[in-house]
Amino acid sequence: MISLVRRIAPLCALVAALAACGASDAPRPVQLETIPSGPASTPPPFVPGPGGLTPVFKRATTHEKIVALTFDADMTADDESRAAAGEHFDNPGLIDALRASKVPATVFMTGRWADAYPAQARSIGRDPLFEVANHSYSHYAFIRGCFGMPALPEDRMRADVEHADTAIRRAGVPRPMPYFRFPGGCYDNEALRVIGSLGLTAVQWDVPSGDAFAVDAQTVVRQVLDGVRPGSVVVMHCTRAGAPLTEQVVRTVVPRLRARGYRFAKVSQLIAASAGRA
Ligand SMILES: [Zn+2]
Repeated sequence: MISLVRRIAPLCALVAALAACGASDAPRPVQLETIPSGPASTPPPFVPGPGGLTPVFKRATTHEKIVALTFDADMTADDESRAAAGEHFDNPGLIDALRASKVPATVFMTGRWADAYPAQARSIGRDPLFEVANHSYSHYAFIRGCFGMPALPEDRMRADVEHADTAIRRAGVPRPMPYFRFPGGCYDNEALRVIGSLGLTAVQWDVPSGDAFAVDAQTVVRQVLDGVRPGSVVVMHCTRAGAPLTEQVVRTVVPRLRARGYRFAKVSQLIAASAGRA
């Protein structure tokens, strides 16, 4: 897939800047959320794997109908000039939709996004409905050959992640969760060791929504609804510039998943459920 993507690099470099660009049920009464969404989202203890490799969480091992919606707040170096020219890399309507529907969610935030939108970062980070985790500072890849994205040299990876943490806290997020999502979802063992040395768990996903640069909300809706199973992690984006239909998608999939009996959880709650702690 990556070699194919390289052949159409210009588009996919843009797509990759949004991280995870990939691919009927009987109605039931709407359920109220039963998983606590408050600051109770205490991260399970970090246990590095063999060789210091950080664990990679992709979905919960559970039969419970719980699902985590995750939103990557991407910004790259190039995006700063685009933002200055008037493009919007935030998506307050999406956050409003999550709040209105009382949907807990995990936001993987780049440091550049926190620097660009500190009031929103603070608001999200102080809302017990949400948790915020690290998505690097500059949204550069942690390995070469990741969708044509610029790659960080290994000796700058740690500093980039720490820079993001500093920016996120400076914006007013009091307790970022100890999770890291690799830009583009690309990593190797060396990248896992770097993240492990920082005490961060890598969080991937099992459901790529395909919301990046989507032109048809129904296609994204279908991909999410077809992909979700108990314990799933769905990746979407919190940026109007690169994922303009995501609010519409969320407003559609939330009631449909609830009608299927699903309830929404933050990543920390899925990890806890997977570990038998919830
Ligand atoms: Zn991303």
